[in-house]
Amino acid sequence: MLEFLQQELDRLREQGLLTTIRTISSPQGAYFVADGRRVLNLCSNNYLGLANHPELVAAARRAVERFGVGPGAVRSIAGTMSLHLELEDKLAAFKEAEATSSLQSGFAANLAVIPLLVGEGDVIFSDELNHASIIDGCRLSRARIVRYPHCDPAGLEACMEETLREAGEGTRRLVITDGVFSMDGDVAPLPALVEVARRHGAMVMVDDAHGEGVLGDHGRGAVHHFGLTGQVEVEVGTLSKAFGVVGGYVSGPRVLADFLRQRGRPFIFSSALTPADTAAAIAAVDLLAGDDSLVRRLWDNTRYFKEEMRRLGFDLGRSQTPITPVMIGEAPKAQECSRLLFERGIFAQAIGFPTVPRGQARIRVMISAVHSREDLDFALERFEEVGKELGII
Ligand SMILES: *Cc1c(COP(=O)(O)O)cnc(C)c1O
Repeated sequence: MLEFLQQELDRLREQGLLTTIRTISSPQGAYFVADGRRVLNLCSNNYLGLANHPELVAAARRAVERFGVGPGAVRSIAGTMSLHLELEDKLAAFKEAEATSSLQSGFAANLAVIPLLVGEGDVIFSDELNHASIIDGCRLSRARIVRYPHCDPAGLEACMEETLREAGEGTRRLVITDGVFSMDGDVAPLPALVEVARRHGAMVMVDDAHGEGVLGDHGRGAVHHFGLTGQVEVEVGTLSKAFGVVGGYVSGPRVLADFLRQRGRPFIFSSALTPADTAAAIAAVDLLAGDDSLVRRLWDNTRYFKEEMRRLGFDLGRSQTPITPVMIGEAPKAQECSRLLFERGIFAQAIGFPTVPRGQARIRVMISAVHSREDLDFALERFEEVGKELGII
């Protein structure tokens, strides 16, 4: 009965869209062992090197000794541990929000919160390049979804005017955007988007999975970066990127956290974060709140690498952050580039459709605070070699 799946896989292979999933047999770091080979790690979201940080590892170990390995139940039955509340309080202080709610992942956080804000008869205005988990959360809500042109406040306004012309007073409106776009590394123009939303009585939600730990004072995120703290109703974050662990959270007013605990489906029907994850995340928040040197290091590395790549002639698209897309075009060529880099000791993943639009395949380089200048120079040399061989530069 499932032969059609083989046909689908064959089709993906022919189009150069079959993803190679490599096996990592060491911790995440500047280098790691992938498919048995020691390679420079240019593809993880471990922006600050926290995924294998000794303080996080020690915190996780202590939590396992004290609380064991499992949460035991969904949070609303018997799965809320003191650790979860401690994490939520610390995250709220870090985000300068009234309250946060932790969930199993950033993906789950989007599925949980969007259907709480809008439902049938309401309208969501969603950036056309928003993350897949936002798209799925929007669909679950059953609200009407209007995609507005990428990072374009005037385009948003035109969409709102046209869509809302006949909308009744009671129609709830929600504007949703990534804070930093994960495949291009560009930053949403939040001040202008918030202004447009206000004019049309819309709530604003920012998913800042790639902004936290990266933008704003001590990595407080894109909203903080723009001085908009308190002016965005809802933020979604992840603990799996800069924070180095796994998990997601929603931050905003207390009433949102209270309602999410009553009606957020991933909260009430799926078990909580484990004690180890939660304790490691607490250590990550403590570390980030107390010291911004890793964030500064991340930006020093980012500026250096991107400047040198541009000097070599690479097209880095619209990137404004450590997410560095090396634009290539056709998916098979991007895969070939990634393969050649891997042979020479660099792991940088090729990304094609449907993660990015057709014809815009790229190598996505992720810069981290754990990279040394020598690591970046090594990467630059290899990129130059392979780029010339494939006629990219
Ligand atoms: C990575 C990402 C997510 C998913 O986060 P997880 O914690 O890995 O589930 C959600 N939204 C955006 C914008 C992301 O980049």
